[in-house]
Amino acid sequence: MHLLVFLETDATFLTADNIDRLISAELPEEVTEQGQQLGIIIRGSMVHTQCAGGNKNALCMKSPRPDQPQRCSKKYPREFLEETIVQANGYPLYRQRDSGKSFTIIGRGTAADIPVTIDNRYVVPYSPYLTGRYRAHVNVEICGSIQAIKYIYKYKYKENNQSAVQVLSEKDEVKRYLNGRYIGLTEAIWRLFEYKVHEEVPSVMHLSIHLPGEQAVYFPEGIDIQGLQDRLQNAHTTLTSFFDYNSNNLDGRQYLYQQFPCHYQFITKKGWQKRVAQGRTAIGRMYSASPFMGEKYNLRLLLTVVCGPQSFHHLRTVYETRYSTFKRACIALGLLENDGEWVATFTEGSTFASGYSLRQLFITALLYGTVVSPIDIWEQFKIPFCDDLPHRLASGTVPLPPNAIDGMRDVQFDYGLYLIQQMLQEFNKTLNDYSLPLPVLNWSTSQAVGQNSLIQEEQLYDLEKQALNHQDMFDVLNTEQLECYHKILQAVVDRRYEGRSPSFFLHGPAGTGKTFLYKCLCSFLRAKGQIVLCVASSGIAAQLLLGGRTAHSRL
Ligand SMILES: [Zn+2]
Repeated sequence: MHLLVFLETDATFLTADNIDRLISAELPEEVTEQGQQLGIIIRGSMVHTQCAGGNKNALCMKSPRPDQPQRCSKKYPREFLEETIVQANGYPLYRQRDSGKSFTIIGRGTAADIPVTIDNRYVVPYSPYLTGRYRAHVNVEICGSIQAIKYIYKYKYKENNQSAVQVLSEKDEVKRYLNGRYIGLTEAIWRLFEYKVHEEVPSVMHLSIHLPGEQAVYFPEGIDIQGLQDRLQNAHTTLTSFFDYNSNNLDGRQYLYQQFPCHYQFITKKGWQKRVAQGRTAIGRMYSASPFMGEKYNLRLLLTVVCGPQSFHHLRTVYETRYSTFKRACIALGLLENDGEWVATFTEGSTFASGYSLRQLFITALLYGTVVSPIDIWEQFKIPFCDDLPHRLASGTVPLPPNAIDGMRDVQFDYGLYLIQQMLQEFNKTLNDYSLPLPVLNWSTSQAVGQNSLIQEEQLYDLEKQALNHQDMFDVLNTEQLECYHKILQAVVDRRYEGRSPSFFLHGPAGTGKTFLYKCLCSFLRAKGQIVLCVASSGIAAQLLLGGRTAHSRL
């Protein structure tokens, strides 16, 4: 179970002393009986020993660079540390003193038979109270900044742990899926008893955003005109009801749309009503809108600053002047100018979106938006744009390029620029087109400099693996698939077709194995070192094919 607890502002405890009172990363003193019991649990479940003694088989062992030896990506054993240090990035360094306390274990995997002395440097942060109470592995950590929370929050909502399992020589696709989906004992029981899988307090309420008259209206098939009219007239949303409440009542006019659910609750058919129950509250969140959405974006922008609006018209009225569009109202309020909207978008996005999504948004802004000064946006937001990269670099997921100098600063920004460059390349654009700086380091893993990166990318397939894949799939093709298989391949290899490009259209209902045949053909040709470009009309369809792209992005 993962649990993230938010504390009230005045209950925060980001000082070293406070942290030490609640969290320990040391072997406990074993003077009292309680201490001895805690010691047993800590030695058994709160020390990082997988890689102790240099066990190369441990999952945490990774090479930061191909030419460098493997080391523990969780950074164990740590350095001894006399005092807990509160860091700016929100992850404190916990006190791990050289107390002389230790015990010996025998290494595992490649370090089998090697005795390793385990001291404070191996201890995973824990709360003595919680571990003592539940007698189990309970890792407790503090996140003291929005940066840390963002990632922990996402981590918490990741699916339950999954591992890729390969069931050998299993030709039955359905059986393979069933065997591959493994549910552990605890999860199975949890679900059988229909316990809650997650809980969130206070609840978050989604607030709808729509332009006048554009809310969704649901009606059954064959409804008569009168019925339809009634439905249209009663198509209230959280937004229209918010306007209605404010035009009929005075008490809610000091609140913004997003603040409204704190004080009022929304009841379908009745609209917003003042909360009566003490202590019950909800957090309001508007659906996000990007500047490409035009007026919807401007409407949302107004709702973030105008308190107590009574109608769409009212929202467009600034200093007694009613403007014809939400955009004009935004400009009158000084909300839009130059890259102001982009700065606002990225500022807001930085608080909840990961570096990866922000980079994507940046690309979209560059390609389709009207960013006046991309370099200023980059300089202002490069930290959130790259906030996932220091971790990737430090953990060795991404090896440092050969021309990197040890201890080089701000490498993540260089890598960020490289990633942005790669994404732009897909649209035939370069960093130069937007006057953005070029990466200094050679991040491309290619040895042959100057060769077309698209061709290189297509030649990266493991030929042997492709051949095996092909054999596996070929063995189970049915008669019809086989017939198509031979016809299509013949057209590829037959010299009579040279200079012409025959087309084939494979027709059949869903689930009859069309994609399976495509994959089989691709593997056959790729195993021979040939280039196969897989394109589909939709992104989802493209994802089903190895190396698949949408047609418009590829061609
Ligand atoms: Zn390790």
